[in-house]
Amino acid sequence: MARAWTLAARPQGTPTPADFALVERDLPALDEGQVRVVNRWLSVDPYMRGRMNDVKSYVPPFGIGEPMDGGAIGEVVESRAPGLSPGDLVQHMRGWRDEAVLDAAEAQKLPALDVSPQAFLGQLGMPGMTAWFGLLDVAQAGEGDTVFVSAAAGAVGSTVVQIAKAKGMTVIGSAGGAQKAAWVRDLGADAAIDYKAQPVARALAEAVASTGKGGIDVYFDNVGGDHLDAALAHARPRARFAICGMIDVYNDARPTQLKYLARLIGNRIRMQGFIVSDYLARAPEFYRGMGELLATGRLQREETVLDGLEATPDAFLGLFTGGNTGKMLVRL
Ligand code: NDP
Repeated sequence: MARAWTLAARPQGTPTPADFALVERDLPALDEGQVRVVNRWLSVDPYMRGRMNDVKSYVPPFGIGEPMDGGAIGEVVESRAPGLSPGDLVQHMRGWRDEAVLDAAEAQKLPALDVSPQAFLGQLGMPGMTAWFGLLDVAQAGEGDTVFVSAAAGAVGSTVVQIAKAKGMTVIGSAGGAQKAAWVRDLGADAAIDYKAQPVARALAEAVASTGKGGIDVYFDNVGGDHLDAALAHARPRARFAICGMIDVYNDARPTQLKYLARLIGNRIRMQGFIVSDYLARAPEFYRGMGELLATGRLQREETVLDGLEATPDAFLGLFTGGNTGKMLVRL
């Protein structure tokens, strides 16, 4: 019998294990054009928290008692679809479960590249594409710019750091804890902040001073809150802010206090939110660009892996306590 995690209740504030329930389900026989897939890797991502609320958004909310969706890599074990055969590895969105029956059109066969399949859930997948287009298109970052990125030891942030360095930028990363900050420096960042050790505004002031650049030209925001305010405080004229995520407020809808918001005006700062799916049509550009960086052999890719379907809620909750370095994954 197949098993899937369902949303048992809509979380109030930070989700707890009681908000999730693991259920057994009979899967149907295959129709023409369908495949049966056994999942090998599941992705947990911060955006899933938004889908747990019953609000209108760019993706519909998860239904109560329904299996949750999410990125996954699975192996085809049965196929009634041309082009997909048992043994093929595919990427699809029926995560949070061990097995799925889906239309072949919903499954993308992984390219035959010499990289581990789970990379397509991280640096070579949605988080990587978010980093690429957020930095290079939304923020229009280029050689010589000074870039500040928050959650810099996470999946998106660690990729931003490395793309920015490869393209000749000065990079300041922020992460929670001395060990993560050290890893961010190891990725090539010119300065790294441990925002848990001192207020981020003060730490950013010191980091900016250490680069000798006088301010930041780009802020890649994964966090919101104090990080965003500190970035505003240190933005140079015509700085560009790519607002990718605000994990600091996903569990807690408290108002964000931005003391330095008015600096948008005098410094002509441009602030733009974006959703990675806006860029799906430009995916080939991302694969070409990341392919070139991969070929240099200098890209680092870290993963935090929890084992077994049972661990999926813990992996998801770990995103909000900094339990991951690099991409958070569940291995089945
Ligand atoms: P990460 O791998 O970065 O994991 C989340 C990290 O956020 C944690 O490891 C933790 O690191 C940090 N964090 C959690 N809570 C806080 C907090 N209160 N203050 C500061 N840092 C915190 O996740 P992703 O790389 O998948 O996602 C990063 C961001 O990008 C998220 O905001 C996500 O929603 C957004 N995103 C947006 C997309 C879009 O299309 N706009 C697409 C994909 C992601 P630490 O230990 O350093 O605190």
